[in-house]
Amino acid sequence: MKQIIIGNWKMFGLTYQVKDLVTKLLSGLKQFSPQADIVICPPATQLSNVASLIHGSQIALGGQDCQADDLVTHTGDISAEMLKDIGAQYVIIGHSERREIHHETDAIVQTKTVQAQDWGLIPIVCVGETEIERRTGAYRDSVKKQINEGLPDDFNGIVAYEPIWAIHGGMSASLQEISSMMQIIRKELAKRFNRTTAEGIRILYGGSVNPDNAESILSLEGVNGVLIGSASLSAEKFLAIIRSSV
Ligand code: PEP
Repeated sequence: MKQIIIGNWKMFGLTYQVKDLVTKLLSGLKQFSPQADIVICPPATQLSNVASLIHGSQIALGGQDCQADDLVTHTGDISAEMLKDIGAQYVIIGHSERREIHHETDAIVQTKTVQAQDWGLIPIVCVGETEIERRTGAYRDSVKKQINEGLPDDFNGIVAYEPIWAIHGGMSASLQEISSMMQIIRKELAKRFNRTTAEGIRILYGGSVNPDNAESILSLEGVNGVLIGSASLSAEKFLAIIRSSV
């Protein structure tokens, strides 16, 4: 399965910063032939800017969230249809920051995923455990629950395993922890759907991926790509990670 490298820009950036970063990415990508699909997910205010900068390139566009329905009465939100309209092909759903700060439940994640799929977007559904769940051993059940309750029956997207304790802290999960979770997730997907469907779903790792650890993470059996926060804000680092795909 072709790997996919996704940059989650969160609240970065201003117009001049975005132009600079994308220009550097595009010129870097001319120096080699990437093995992986590449996606960047800028904040809503920069979607249009990024869409025109990457037009005709091998970089695809993704949103960071979409609303669970099509109603116009959601001040401040954006719909899957609007993402599609601006040229997005992907959308991140259920990132731990949205689950925590915006109180998004698995039921909401599922509804948003359905909405994204209905509009022809590929949902990137994030799952992952807290530090306490990891320490107490509850992490397997927590992630399984997010898979069973957050994904719709006709799920047709990507699952990103992002242990919350490894995000943005500079310390990624160990290779062994990642490997084991990839297997647990693949098995749970097979139970939730069936084996063939589960084998066709790309499962990503996210959490402090950087140029130093990307190669070993991307070489692990069952890792179909990575979701990157901080390191995706540096063209040099993001390009180095893209080069590490297998
Ligand atoms: C993220 O927030 O999705 C993420 C993976 O962040 P970082 O790479 O900074 O840990």
